[in-house]
Amino acid sequence: EIEIRDLHKSFGDNHVLRGIDLDVAPGEVVCVIGPSGSGKSTLLRCVNLLEEPSRGTVHVGGTELTDPDVDIDAVRRRIGMVFQQFNLFPHVDVTGNLTLPQRRVLGRDKARAAEVARENLDRVGLADKAGAFPAQLSGGQQQRVAIARALSMGPEVMLFDEPTSALDPELVGEVLSVMRLLAGEGMTMMVVTHEMSFAREVADRVVFMDGGVIVEQGPAAQVITRPAHERTRNFLDRIL
Ligand code: ATP
Ligand code: MG
Repeated sequence: EIEIRDLHKSFGDNHVLRGIDLDVAPGEVVCVIGPSGSGKSTLLRCVNLLEEPSRGTVHVGGTELTDPDVDIDAVRRRIGMVFQQFNLFPHVDVTGNLTLPQRRVLGRDKARAAEVARENLDRVGLADKAGAFPAQLSGGQQQRVAIARALSMGPEVMLFDEPTSALDPELVGEVLSVMRLLAGEGMTMMVVTHEMSFAREVADRVVFMDGGVIVEQGPAAQVITRPAHERTRNFLDRIL
């Protein structure tokens, strides 16, 4: 589903990604962990073409994103992304947040967009908040709306960049539950997270990055519980 080969990204003379090779199979959940500045967000952003890779290739669902002739908008529609900051439209209600992108980007009519919005609000447990404005919702609810909005576009893969890092501790669980549900439904997911219990429980594979390379990867039980590399052990000692 996602195939990354020899991916490099530099910002000026800051060589941030230094040759990433990574495959994510359909239905697989890959958690990416690593210290601040190791390039985790840059990696996700290259998979969504929010950043243009300096070298290497990225394929999603068989389409080469790095092909200069690629229809970037068409590719982005197939990739849902959820950020640390929820980025909801503040001046429209929850339904509007879910229907506007469907209408603008996919050209769905109002009734169909509203139907898809309802289905996805239901999926994240917020059917009763359809008429609320973002400011009336808790952070956890806002992030679940952001996930429902991404799902309403019918993505093939979902990318999450520290989706719970901005939340009060008591609100983290409800967002992780929604992500666990998606994983159980067979969604292909790449998740940058510091939630090691989530990674242990949900990830099919954990990838540890440091200094713009993948230092080690494998099943969570291996990478988190019995890391092979000193750098991974140091990182885990600091955060666990
Ligand atoms: P964190 O855990 O703090 O989110 P990260 O692993 O996600 O860190 P990145 O955000 O990918 O790290 O940043 C990696 C490096 O790339 C940093 O040195 C950062 O300053 C640099 N960088 C990221 N985005 C840009 C940008 N748009 N322009 C210039 N430099 C950038
Ligand atoms: Mg980051």
